[in-house]
Amino acid sequence: MFRNHIFILFLLFSIGLNAQKTSFDNYFTDNTLNILCYHSGRKAVEYYTIDQTYITKKWAGTKTKLLDNTNLGAHRIEVYVHNTKNLIYSRNYCSFFEEWQTTPEAENSCGNFEEVFRIPLPNQDVDIAFFSRDSLGKWFLVEKQKIEVEKTEYKKLDYKLYDPYRLNIASDNVNTKLDIVIVPAGYTQKDSLKMVSDLKLFTDFLFSKPPYAEAKNKINVWGQCYFSEQTGIPGLDSTIRPNSFLGVSYNTFNSPRYIMTPNLFNLHEILVNVPYEQIVIMCNSETYGGGGIFNFYATSYVNPKNGFVLIHELGHSFAGLGDEYSQNDTEVEGAPQCIEPWQKNLTSLKDFSQKWKDMIEDSTPIPTPVTEEYINKVGVFEGAAYVTKGLYRPYQDCLMRSDKPFCPVCTREINKMLDFYTE
Ligand SMILES: [Zn+2]
Repeated sequence: MFRNHIFILFLLFSIGLNAQKTSFDNYFTDNTLNILCYHSGRKAVEYYTIDQTYITKKWAGTKTKLLDNTNLGAHRIEVYVHNTKNLIYSRNYCSFFEEWQTTPEAENSCGNFEEVFRIPLPNQDVDIAFFSRDSLGKWFLVEKQKIEVEKTEYKKLDYKLYDPYRLNIASDNVNTKLDIVIVPAGYTQKDSLKMVSDLKLFTDFLFSKPPYAEAKNKINVWGQCYFSEQTGIPGLDSTIRPNSFLGVSYNTFNSPRYIMTPNLFNLHEILVNVPYEQIVIMCNSETYGGGGIFNFYATSYVNPKNGFVLIHELGHSFAGLGDEYSQNDTEVEGAPQCIEPWQKNLTSLKDFSQKWKDMIEDSTPIPTPVTEEYINKVGVFEGAAYVTKGLYRPYQDCLMRSDKPFCPVCTREINKMLDFYTE
């Protein structure tokens, strides 16, 4: 009897494995389909327009987790076999467009923002559906469009790209590793020695903090060799030209230390030879600044002494973590928090059971006072995501708030995401 149970379990396990394997092989080949879109609109209005598609060699992502069940992010793409309800791939993400929608400019004018989606190359035509969240946090369909995969071609460039540096290659079996590519911005050919040493510095920084420090065998770090037109990052210093191929600059949305680029098409174009899933833009400047958007990209200035900004921004772009600080710690009254935020390290206490309730000791009060008694304890501390009232963070201090180690809740989320990419 006992033996039969084992056999049945083994059989079920084998069927499970085969089902996962075949779902990739049934619908995809081992290459990448790049879908270049414009995400446009204004406040409360949005559209997606597919501009072009092209194929690049190899698929770097997981072959077993084709559907994204994280429920993170502000947007979601779903890929269906054309004219069917057969969902074969999905991913959640956040966007530069969504951030722009919160600026005063979006009240009266339209914006048009580049986005690039990378999916395993389907072996037949597919439909791509774009979803966003409404004001209650529920998903709604923005639109659905057909992609003629059969008519899509390999990307050909009229210039030569360098091969990427292998900064930390845990395995060349890229499907089972998280593949991060570091893209240098603001380095000319004259800065090539600095570029190489900064790439190594960024790699060392990445592995300098837990939980990444214990995950070296799960993460491939690639460094693209790319030279910009001019040394440095524009936006703060008027001696640097604002226009470049990569378009990286300070002062995004009039926030001086916010380094971003709208040039997603160019950014992805210079990576056609790299197997990558996450992008970090290494900005050749020692002036504090950075940014990170979930499943979009992260940016960081180069501080020779520490990688705090790099790892903080990767917390946003890789793990979808929210900021645990309130703006300058001044008394800002936030908007009433009528919904539970999607970030796993933030809560409005509207639906706390889906957050870190399981990590709190019974004797810890909710909300938790910011007192010595609860230092280094998981609790529910008021003040997070730029407001002092109505939103709560899990720890008094954490890398998503200041230059401290990640709190246990953020650590758990990063580890879950590492498993998503690597198991
Ligand atoms: Zn945290």
